[in-house]
Amino acid sequence: MNFKRTLITSALPYANGPLHIGHLAGAYLPSDLYTRFLRLRGEDVLHICGSDEHGVPITLAAEKEGVSPQVIVDRYHELNKNTFEDYGIEFDYYGRTSSATHHKTAQEFFLTLDQKGIFKKKSEQQLFDESANMFLPDRYVKGTCPHCSFDQAYGDQCESCGTSLSPSELIHPISAITGTTPILKETEHWFLPLGEFEPFLTSWMDTHKDWKAHVQGQIQSWITQGLGDRAVTRDLTWGVPVPLENADGKVLYVWFDAPIGYISATMEWAELQGDPSKWKTYWQDKQTRLVHFIGKDNIVFHCIIFPSMLHAHGEYVLADQVPANEFLNLEGRKLSTSKGWAIWLHELKNEIDIDLIRYYIACTLPENKDSDFSWSDFQTRVNNDLADVLGNFAFRTLSFIHRFENGVIPTPQNLSEEDIKTLKSITTQKEAVEQAMEGFRFKEAAGAAMELARIGNRYFSDSEPWKTRKSDPQLCANTLYVSAQVCAALTWLLAPFMPTKMSQLATQCNLGSSEHLSSDLLWTDCTEEIIKPGHELGEGAVLFPKIEDEWIQFQREKLQNSPSE
Ligand SMILES: [Zn+2]
Repeated sequence: MNFKRTLITSALPYANGPLHIGHLAGAYLPSDLYTRFLRLRGEDVLHICGSDEHGVPITLAAEKEGVSPQVIVDRYHELNKNTFEDYGIEFDYYGRTSSATHHKTAQEFFLTLDQKGIFKKKSEQQLFDESANMFLPDRYVKGTCPHCSFDQAYGDQCESCGTSLSPSELIHPISAITGTTPILKETEHWFLPLGEFEPFLTSWMDTHKDWKAHVQGQIQSWITQGLGDRAVTRDLTWGVPVPLENADGKVLYVWFDAPIGYISATMEWAELQGDPSKWKTYWQDKQTRLVHFIGKDNIVFHCIIFPSMLHAHGEYVLADQVPANEFLNLEGRKLSTSKGWAIWLHELKNEIDIDLIRYYIACTLPENKDSDFSWSDFQTRVNNDLADVLGNFAFRTLSFIHRFENGVIPTPQNLSEEDIKTLKSITTQKEAVEQAMEGFRFKEAAGAAMELARIGNRYFSDSEPWKTRKSDPQLCANTLYVSAQVCAALTWLLAPFMPTKMSQLATQCNLGSSEHLSSDLLWTDCTEEIIKPGHELGEGAVLFPKIEDEWIQFQREKLQNSPSE
C-alpha cells in the first residue's frame, strides 16, 4: 500500500491532573520523534492530540476539590497544553473533548451507529449508591480485582494487572463517593456487541503482523477471552449527552467519545486552515496512514473498540500502526501519582534543559518491556554521551577551525582511507537512524545517531590534528574538513531528539537559519559533504555542561520527600 500522508494521533490525556515523565515515555515523545522525522523527510504529516475532558476521573477530582468539573478541565487543559509546548512536543492541533464540535461529532457518530442498528439496548443490574442517590459507573467504585486480587481495582480497570473490568465484576465493591457498599439496581443502556466484530478484528489483525509482539499479544488475548457486549452509555451528568429521546441523565461512555476526539480535533484544525472539509482527507481517504501512539493501558480501546466503531460506521480509515509502549518505572518502582512517586513535567522544566530529558527518555523508552528512569543513569547518559562525546567532539572541531583556520572550512586533498571511511559513516548511520525510525524503534535510532558522534570523536582524537597542524598541514586540513561534515550531519540525525540543542549546533555550523531543521533543509540535504570548503562557521560554544552530583542528589531527595495524596 502506498500512502500519501500520515495522520498521527497521541493518546488524549485526562484533564484531571498534570503530566509526568511516564506520559512522555509512553506516547508523546515517541509520537513527536516520529512526526519530526517524517517532517524532516518532507512528508505530509498531521499530528493531533487534545484533552480528554470527560469520564469519571474528572468528576471525582472535581468532587474532591468541591468545584465543578469545568473548573478542573479548564485548569489542566491549559497546564498540559503548555507543558507539551515546553517539552517541544509539536502538535498541529491540541483540542479538547468539551468543545461544541466534539459534542456534535460524537453525537452524530453515535446516531449513525444507532440508525444502522449496530447497538443492542438492554437493561442491566448496576451498582447504585443509595446515600448519594446515583449509579456508580467506572471509577466511582473500587474493589478487589477478580483476576489478580489487587484490592484497589477500579470499576473499569485493574491498574495492577491491566485487565479491563465492569463494576459488577469487582469483589467487595465500595462506593468511591460515600465509602458505602452499593446495591444493584436496574438501568437501561446501549451496548456495542464486540463479539460480532470478532471476524473483522481477526482478519484486520492478520494484515498487521508487523505490529509489536506485546500489542498483538494483548489483542489476541482479548479475542481469546471472548469479546462481550460493551456498554457505550453511562448514567452520569458530565459528558456528551446521549442524543436520543428517553435518554435523560445518560451520557456517552468516555471511551466511546474520547477517540472520536481525534476526529473532531482534526475538524477544528481544518476549520482554522480555512478549508473545513480538509479533515476528510486525513480520515476518509484510503491513502492516509493512521498511526496511534499510546501506552499499553490503552491498547484495548485503540485496537478493539475504536476500530470496531470505525468499521461499523464505514467511512473511516483504520489504524495502520499502533506502536504502544509499556510502562516507565521510576528508580526501580512503579510510577504512582497517588503515592507521590512521579516526576512532574511542569516542575522539572524549570530545573533542567528539556532536551536532556528528551534525549535520556528516548534512550530509555519502554518500547517492548517496562523500563526504568533513574537519576544516576540520567547523569551518566548526559555526562558521557552528551558532554564527553557529542559536546566535546563538536566543541573541539569547531573551536579548532576557529583558532587555526579563521573559522573557515579548509579544502581537502588526497583524503586517506580513514577520512573516507569516516565520511561514509555519515551515510551508514543516517540509514540506520532511518530504518529504526521507520520501525518505531526510537531507542535504537537515538543509539545510531549518537554512534556517529562517537565515530567523529574517535576519528578526531586518532587523527591528532594538533600534531599534523605543524607536521603536515594538509593532513590537518583533511581532518578538520571531515570532522566538520560529521558535526553538521549530527544536527540532522539528532534533531528529532534534541531540537533546541541541534538548532544551536546548526547555528554554530552556520547552516542556514537556526530553524532550518524544520523548514528549508530536509533529510536528503544531509550528505557526506554538507559544508563546502570556504564555508564560514558561526560562533562556537559549549553545548552540554556536565550534571553535578549535588544536582542529582537534590532531585533524589525531592522525589523521596514528595507528598502522597
Ligand atoms: Zn487485577
